[in-house]
Parts: sequence; C-alpha cells; structure tokens
Amino acid sequence: MIARDEALAALAGNEFDVLVIGGGITGAGVALDAATRGYSVALLERTDFAAGTSSRSSKLVHGGLRYLQNFDLGLVREALLERQLLVALAPHLVRPLPLVVPAFAGARPDRLMGVGLNLYDVMSVERGRLRGRRGRRGRAERASAQDGAPTSVAAGSGTSAAGSGASAGGSAASVGGSDASTATADEAAGSRGAQTWSPERHRMIGGEEVLKLVPALAAREPSGGYLFYDCQTDDARLVLTVLGEAERFGAVCANRVGAVDLLERDGRACGVRALDAESGETFEIQAASVVNATGVWADELRPQELHDEAELPRIRPSRGTHVTLSHDDLPLVGGAIVPAAEGRSIFALPWLGRTLVGTTDNDYEGPLEHVRPAAEDVTYLLDAVNAFFATDLGVADLTGAYAGVRPLISTGDPKKSVDISRKAELYETSSGMITITGGKLTTWRRMAKLAVDRLVEREAREAPCRTHEIPLGQAVAVADLPRVEGVPPESYAALAARYGYAAHEVLAIAAERGELAQPIVAGLPDLLAEAALAARREQARSIGDVLLRRTRLGLLAARELTGEGARRTPHDDSSAARESPGERGGLAAQDGPVVRVAAVLARELRWGSERTGEELERFAQEARAEGIDLT
Ligand SMILES: Cc1cc2nc3c(=O)[nH]c(=O)nc-3n(C[C@H](O)[C@H](O)[C@H](O)COP(=O)(O)OP(=O)(O)OC[C@H]3O[C@@H](n4cnc5c(N)ncnc54)[C@H](O)[C@@H]3O)c2cc1C
Repeated sequence: MIARDEALAALAGNEFDVLVIGGGITGAGVALDAATRGYSVALLERTDFAAGTSSRSSKLVHGGLRYLQNFDLGLVREALLERQLLVALAPHLVRPLPLVVPAFAGARPDRLMGVGLNLYDVMSVERGRLRGRRGRRGRAERASAQDGAPTSVAAGSGTSAAGSGASAGGSAASVGGSDASTATADEAAGSRGAQTWSPERHRMIGGEEVLKLVPALAAREPSGGYLFYDCQTDDARLVLTVLGEAERFGAVCANRVGAVDLLERDGRACGVRALDAESGETFEIQAASVVNATGVWADELRPQELHDEAELPRIRPSRGTHVTLSHDDLPLVGGAIVPAAEGRSIFALPWLGRTLVGTTDNDYEGPLEHVRPAAEDVTYLLDAVNAFFATDLGVADLTGAYAGVRPLISTGDPKKSVDISRKAELYETSSGMITITGGKLTTWRRMAKLAVDRLVEREAREAPCRTHEIPLGQAVAVADLPRVEGVPPESYAALAARYGYAAHEVLAIAAERGELAQPIVAGLPDLLAEAALAARREQARSIGDVLLRRTRLGLLAARELTGEGARRTPHDDSSAARESPGERGGLAAQDGPVVRVAAVLARELRWGSERTGEELERFAQEARAEGIDLT
C-alpha cells in the first residue's frame, strides 16, 4: 500500500468517483470492486484497517451449517459458492479445513446433522453438475443403504450464482438475488489457469480417523463421526490483501481518517468532511458517490436519513467471544463441532499453531470501540471444551481471548440474535449515500457487488463486476522463498500463507537487517521484519496495529505481550531504561516482545524516546480495553 502521507495528500487534492467509508472487509471489497470497474476510488478507515468486526471473526470462510436451521438457504448457498471462489482467488490465504462431528460409544452421529450435511454438499456444487451428481449419488447412497454410510463419491468443483433475497425498505436490496454476472469458481480459476478446490462430500469416518484429525479427543475414545469440509482464513490479512489489490487498481486508502459528516451539493452527497485522527485536523474529500460500509457503526452517519427514509432497522450488535489455547493443551489437526450449553454448538479449530475456540452469540449493548470478552463467555466456552474433551482447562491455560460484535440487522422482533439473519442489506437514501451492512466475512465480494451494481445502474453505465477474476495476492511455494540467515525454519510456511509472493519483501528486510530475522515472540513464527514491513507497506501506525492485525500475536500470545517481561528492557532500573529502544539503536535479546516491536516501529516511523514511551503506554491501555490481557 502507499504511505499514509501520500494517501492523505491524494485524498485532499482530488475528486473521486466513489468514496468508501470503512476499512473492514465490506469497505475493502467495495473499493476493489469499484476500482476494477474503472472508478476512481478513495477509502477511509477511522481507526485501523480491519480493526472492527473484520479482525474478530471465527476466521471461517464457510456456508454456515447452523444457518440451515433457520432455513437461510439462499445465504448458505451463496456463501458456499463464495467459499469455493475465494480458494481459487487466494489459495494461500483461504484454505480448506477438515471438520469433524464426533460420535462416541458406537452411537450414530446426530441424524439431523447428517441431513444438514447432505444439503450442504448439494448446495456447494453447480446446478448443472448437480443433476449429474444426483444420479451418481443416488445410486451410491442406495448402495450404501442410508445417509451416514461411508461413500467415496467426490464432489464436483463448479459453482453457480444462486440464492434469493428479499428487499427491505423501498430503496433497499439484499445480497442473495440471482446474479447473472457472478462467475463460477471454474471460470475464475480457469481464467488464471489455477486448480479449483473440490470439496469432497461429507462422509462417516471411523474412530481412528477421528483421532487423527482431533487428537484432543484421545481420552474420550471416539467411535466415529462425520467428516466434512469448510475453509479458514486470517480475517485481518484478508482485508489487507483486498485493500492491496484495490490499490493496485488505483484506489487510495488511508487509515486513521474518519468521516465526520457528509458534504452536500443540492441535497446530494458529494463527499465527506474527514478527521485525520493523527493531526486532529479536518479536511474535505470530494466524491461523486459515497458508500457507507461501516458495519455496526452504519447508523451513526446520518441516522435520521437511514432510519426514517430507508427504514433501516436498528443495527443490533451481537457479541461473540473466542479464546485460544496452546496446541499441546488441545491438539487439533482439523476442526471439531463441540456441543455447548443452551443447545448451541461451538467450533474448536486449529489456527496459526494454536487452538481457537468460539463463539458465543449474545445481544450486546456496551461501547462498540473496544469490545471485551466477558468472563461469563469465557466460562461458557471453557465449560463446553472441558465437558467435550474431558479436559480441565481454566483461564490460566488461555493463550488469548478476543471479542467482536456482529452487525446484525434487527427485525424489531425480540428474538435472540442467533435467530437474526446474516443477510446483507443495502440502503440508498435521499442524499444518494449507499449504505451496505450485515452479511458475513465470506460473502464480502457479493456485498461489494451489490453496492457497486447500484452505482453503475444509477449512472446507466456498462461496467460489469470483475472481482470473480481478480486474484487476491499471489500464492508462492514455500520452497521457492530464499533462505535468510537467522530466520527460523517454521517461519517460511507462515510467511507464505500470510503474504504469498510478498513474503519475499519480509525476507529482504530480514536479510538487510539481520536482527529483524528473529521472531517477535520466542517459539512463534512471526518475525520482527514483519513489523518493519507493516510500517513501510501496510500503514501500521501503532504497536497494536502490528500485534493485533498485521500479525495476530495479540490473539495467540497474550501473556507474552501483556505479562511481566513484555515491556522489560535490559536496564530497567538505570537511566538507560528511560531511553527509547529506538534510540538505543539495537534490539536487545533481553527486551520484551512489545519493546522490540516498539523499537522497530520507532526507527521506521521516526518516533523519539518520548513518543515511543507514549506508544508503549497506549498499547498497554489498548490491551486492557480489549481484554486481551486476560484479566
Ligand atoms: C464473533 C464473530 C464471529 C464471526 N465469524 C465469522 C466467520 O467465521 N465467517 C464469516 O463469514 N463471518 C463471520 N463473522 C461476520 C463477519 O466478521 C462480519 O460480517 C464482517 O467482518 C463485517 O465486516 P464490515 O466491513 O461490514 O464491518 P467492520 O469490519 O466492522 O468494518 C467497519 C469499519 O468501519 C470503520 N468506521 C466506522 N465508522 C467510521 C467512520 N465514520 N469513518 C471511517 N471509518 C469508520 C470501523 O472502524 C471499522 O473498521 C463473525 C462475526 C463475529 C462478531
């Protein structure tokens, strides 16, 4: 990405076709979609890219089995097709994941789950292929007597546009309508010469295979289970990657710039008044169209316009908490569906070398800026884990915890948020501002398309959506990365998965400054060189940006970042301790991980000692506010 200063100069000095407010996955998607259709695009993010809900998800790119319970068939089908397309567009970042529904003592796994998985299989393939498969499958299944019996029929690999969505309000529309210009995954992959991922049909597996995928169940001696597939990603990195692609097509993106109000000409939105959160200055950005992609904050901008004219129902935030555990405490190769209290189920997933457990789903009324994982949510998750895996894990065993809020659209019905649809909604109000909210991480591309289609329609342009054929980053083979002295062997695969080809840039920094080849936290693959890259190329402006979103250490190694020693310097009781780590020049091995990241950022962003001290204090406050300090 371009440097923030350059982005700010471009924002103030140009008039844009489209101004996108919000740098989560939805805004990033709109910026990419609009830029690839030939619009000049600006994107503003009030805090940091992905700092809202888009860094706090379960990291699944999935259809969402549980939405089948609500008969949200259009949503599930659409998400399944997007899942397949995203594996083709970003194979390094969106990866297939086996998931298991275990059974014990010879019992059959839940029949309803089997029905749901059948539907999941059927909905994840292209309709034309489905007809062919149905015949084959019908024969295969008749032969194997009934659902749940082992079958070796593999799924086809195509996708097609599908789903049906209702509209909300006179000027509103929903994602899920049939969509002639959405390409199949085959087309997307074909246009790039890539292989398409073909999820196998779900099947029954024996106890031994369950244990291979879910070693954490050893004490329970599972007798079998269902095996099915979904995909997994790093949500914040997906946002950064989509933003990077948008920039490649000319979009100008800046973080720490908030939209404070709309500018209007003859009653129509023609840009925004923006606040630069670093300088405290306001300035105007001119644009022909404004898209509001601010997630749970969507009704903060022009609330009257949205509620009165477009009948936008209240955004009803729902909090979801996740915890992480060490792989040794809860070893997983694939994911597991874990029954939890109140008839819900949660996921236990392998993620970035740890085990990720979540999520809860409760109405939330607190502040939206920093959402803490509530103690009762953590207890709920640990109780479910301990009951299912026969473990005795407590808060002291956690390696991290985080929470986020879903931008759910309330129907005004006092139903629980779990029952509210994850459908995306688009509203166009009298100023011409387009608001797009709701939805899921998985369906970002379809949400973006919905918003940009509306712009194209109202200008009567000919500009079809292209995002189905735009690769997101460039995958790289781990073996093709150059070996750099000092870089731990396990870091190469982690870099390839996070950056794709751009991992070369991280390694070049590590080669140039040998001290940056070391891990930020001992034993984890993230390198100090990534902090430098984040400042140079990804507009990281704070320690939290690096530890929470460019790397995910804040979620995975909270104790190392917040406990004693995280901020330790070698001369804590001497005058040198008051010196900025940046000024000391080097990176002492004895320094805590947060101090070492601060030192790298101080050099990149030219912080003096006072500023570095302030930034260290700011991170400590952020960690407390976010509850990642596990207190
Ligand atoms: C616990 C949980 C688990 C989830 N798991 C999954 C999952 O596994 N798979 C899946 O597909 N989906 C999942 N989701 C849903 C998914 O994460 C969200 O739908 C998605 O991230 C929303 O993205 P967004 O861009 O609309 O909102 P956000 O990511 O919140 O982005 C909005 C951005 O707008 C910025 N902003 C606000 N006001 C302004 C302003 N005035 N000016 C400039 N910027 C502004 C905010 O700072 C924020 O960064 C989950 C959600 C939660 C909460």
